Amino acid sequence: MSPGARASVDEQAIVEGVIQRVSDYLTDPPRGSDPVISYASPSALAQAFATTVGLALGDRAAVHNEADVLAAVEQVIDYSMQTSHPRFVNQNFAGPDPISVVGDWLGAALNTTGATFEVAPVFTLMESAVLDKLGHLAGYVTSLSGELPPVPPGLFCSGGSMGTLLALQLARHRRQPDVTTKGANGDRLVLFVSESGHYAALKSAALLGIGTDGVVKVKTDHEGAMVPDALDGAIGEALAAGYTPFAVIGTAGTTVTSAFDDLDAIADICESRGLWLHVDGCYGGSAMFSPAHAWRLRGVERSDSCVWNLHKMMGMTQQCTVLLVKNPEQLAACFASRADYLFQTDKLHGEYDSGDRTFQCARRIDVLKLWLTWKVRGDDGFAARIDHAVAMADHTRGRVAASDGAFVPVVSGTFTNVVFAWIPPHLRPLALTPAHDLELPVLDVSVLDADIRAELHGYPPVIKASMQVAGSGMIGFQPVHGLNTFRMICMSPTLQPSDVDALLDTINTAGHDALTAR
Ligand SMILES: *Cc1c(COP(=O)(O)O)cnc(C)c1O
Repeated sequence: MSPGARASVDEQAIVEGVIQRVSDYLTDPPRGSDPVISYASPSALAQAFATTVGLALGDRAAVHNEADVLAAVEQVIDYSMQTSHPRFVNQNFAGPDPISVVGDWLGAALNTTGATFEVAPVFTLMESAVLDKLGHLAGYVTSLSGELPPVPPGLFCSGGSMGTLLALQLARHRRQPDVTTKGANGDRLVLFVSESGHYAALKSAALLGIGTDGVVKVKTDHEGAMVPDALDGAIGEALAAGYTPFAVIGTAGTTVTSAFDDLDAIADICESRGLWLHVDGCYGGSAMFSPAHAWRLRGVERSDSCVWNLHKMMGMTQQCTVLLVKNPEQLAACFASRADYLFQTDKLHGEYDSGDRTFQCARRIDVLKLWLTWKVRGDDGFAARIDHAVAMADHTRGRVAASDGAFVPVVSGTFTNVVFAWIPPHLRPLALTPAHDLELPVLDVSVLDADIRAELHGYPPVIKASMQVAGSGMIGFQPVHGLNTFRMICMSPTLQPSDVDALLDTINTAGHDALTAR
């Protein structure tokens, strides 16, 4: 097209084309022998898009017609990670609940911000309703009256790391109420989180001016749960050294081993020491939906705040995070700036505005997709999702235990994450440690021969890469107890025993290939 000519693109064709394509994708997602990823190197990706609209925009971005745009959309789908594929067990999220996707789209079409009642009347009340119910599950809200309070027990925010940052600011604010006006008062603040806790604690400490040296990593047990006595000892040491402890983060579902800290024991310590207890339920908070698994968070009701990612186990589109707080009145005290052009005190229903109780100004209305999905699935559907995930993890643990030494658990595990090593035939069987306080005997990495350890350490990256290139499965690996191990995260409601079996077979085959190539 010549420069200056007016383009006529059929916008409606693009809108309908994309909607149809996404609808097809949601009703018939990839599965079985479909690729989990159509692997392409960065340069191959750029070349592929060059056949449609190109990835780069150039000096002067051209107008592309609907056929080329829809062909590019097809490429976007083809080359993206198929997180809805049951054999995507790579991370603490998986494919979305289709209802969440359409809820997200509906919200996007209405494109408003959750900051004020005037532009988000429905979503403001929805947030109250959902936060009230989640707060009830966490034991912060004792009864659900059905009335929707202007100040709900928490807020929606843009992810678990953001929620952690806000919670730690609340913790600091309770200790030093003028921190928001005067800044830090010179106390050398320290907070405590387990060695297996999320790095959001470090990043938050850096941003809050506490510094990463102010994050004390508390010892964990073999499974990755905090040792409460070690916490008490670490607090005592910090006090003796002249530091000011102010908060403890208890993790409910660690990212790698899905271990749960003993929140009741930690709450005892926080109570006796006068410390803020923040629960990182980003991953495992969703266990609260299941009557069979809620016990894992026993003691959460005694915490001061709890962050919870609904975009992880619950299949909400990313992101969907709430920060629950025990004392909601503190939110305004800590975060308000009273912008007079937005939070006018003399407007209709200004007391319902949520925007001045948090850090963000404009805020996505992530509540809509969660509310809609909850109305479609109900409490029972949410519980079933958790129960299925743990059942699939139990199936995986059973297969590992019955593998004649081809796979060995590196942590025992009882929740959704199965952490194991692949053992080549010439090293089978490796002796396991039958620790009586664990469900399964595990590989004791500390007693391994240095040579054997180095050999085992080398397999997961090679096996994973070959599966990634082949598109046969996506599984994560990371060091646990110093040894590279696989981490199968059973979370997708589409994951079936046959997928687990196929994944383990694929790993075994790729392991043999890696062995031959050595
Ligand atoms: C994912 C995760 C986080 C961080 O959440 P984001 O939404 O990715 O910022 C924090 N803690 C735990 C335990 C997590 O698994």
